[in-house]
Amino acid sequence: MTGTADRRCHACGARTETALARCDCGEPLWIETPATAVSEDWPDGPGPTGSMWRYADLLATDAPGGVGAAAGGTPLVRTPALDGDADGGRVRVKVEGANPTGTFKDRGTALGLAATEGPVGTVSHGNMALSVAATAAGADRPCVVLVPDDIPEGRLGQIAQFDPTLLRVAGDYGRLYERSLAVGADRDVAFLNSDVPLRMEGQKTLAYELCEAFAPEVPDAVVLPVSSGGNASAVWKGLRDLRAAGRIDRLPRLCLVQAAACAPIARAFEDGAERVRPLEGGEETVAYSIANADPPSGTRALAAVRATGGTVVAVDDDAIRSARRRFAAETGLGIEPASATTLAALDALGERGAVGAGDDVVLVATGTGFREAPPDPDATSPPDPVGIDDLDARIADLTGFRSG
Ligand SMILES: *Cc1c(COP(=O)(O)O)cnc(C)c1O
Ligand SMILES: [Zn+2]
Repeated sequence: MTGTADRRCHACGARTETALARCDCGEPLWIETPATAVSEDWPDGPGPTGSMWRYADLLATDAPGGVGAAAGGTPLVRTPALDGDADGGRVRVKVEGANPTGTFKDRGTALGLAATEGPVGTVSHGNMALSVAATAAGADRPCVVLVPDDIPEGRLGQIAQFDPTLLRVAGDYGRLYERSLAVGADRDVAFLNSDVPLRMEGQKTLAYELCEAFAPEVPDAVVLPVSSGGNASAVWKGLRDLRAAGRIDRLPRLCLVQAAACAPIARAFEDGAERVRPLEGGEETVAYSIANADPPSGTRALAAVRATGGTVVAVDDDAIRSARRRFAAETGLGIEPASATTLAALDALGERGAVGAGDDVVLVATGTGFREAPPDPDATSPPDPVGIDDLDARIADLTGFRSG
């Protein structure tokens, strides 16, 4: 355990003892990992298998009770069918859908829960809400979820099954993010929003798992969908810890992907801007989990890209739909539209030289597709029925093998 109060700002370098999420300069803080906490060696043996708590000695806390103890430890699957998309690079997929509630968010939630006492909360109508509500239920902790006024009913039911206090908030949902952090600090409710320091501390274990899988090498490129910029920041933080400890000697290129309909970070990257500015509006996209027009950690994500020699690309909805179908049909992985952006981006990444022949490329499939509408609505109409007596002939047609 390394503790949670020592915090640093990625932008101005300020170091403070605080429970707050923001630096005086306005940028997000993260937890400072003491260099002495991280030894040069990976843990011996399998450790607490199948979870991020394998790295407990590098984290701010020990595992929480309940389902949060099962967060992380997700599979890394080799997918040769996708190598052609990466200009002959070797593609692997990190299957974050294997987390207890189906996304990487469980890593940050589990750590946040373990590091705090009393009620927890979040602001979300999607994966974050599910993750916090379920993990809190598993640890018998009170939980409040702030959802927007216009949340679709199906979503509400998904969250409600874990029995959090649901507050449907009227008014500007964007403002709620910072407001909930302030109210939470006053009222002792730990709001585990997208980019808070405790969440970063848990989600950085994604980088630990990738680097341990490739040790003593590192992957050449890691491709991940980005919305608030929290997860990209967390992965960068994990890589920085490992390099500071001498476990890795170079960082993978962090390649971030946004949906073209809402791509403030991609725009800032293209403009060569220092900071990410909020988009006016931002349109709808099938990749609804990554549609943040005013990303709280956007500027930090941009810094991660520049520091690692990566890039940011935007992909349109048609490309996202088709990539999701291809993920399913060519790799057997059912993933969220947000996660399919990683495959849709490979072409552009190849053109920019961010991936290429001989590279080890990891696509982070951030969320499961198994609670989604299917990628191809036409495929939901049932095929014509087959009579039992016709079965032999029909199977023979499929296999081209006829007996007798
Ligand atoms: C939350 C989420 C993202 C975006 O992560 P940020 O930390 O907000 O950048 C990407 N994919 C899925 C499936 C998510 O749930
Ligand atoms: Zn600062």
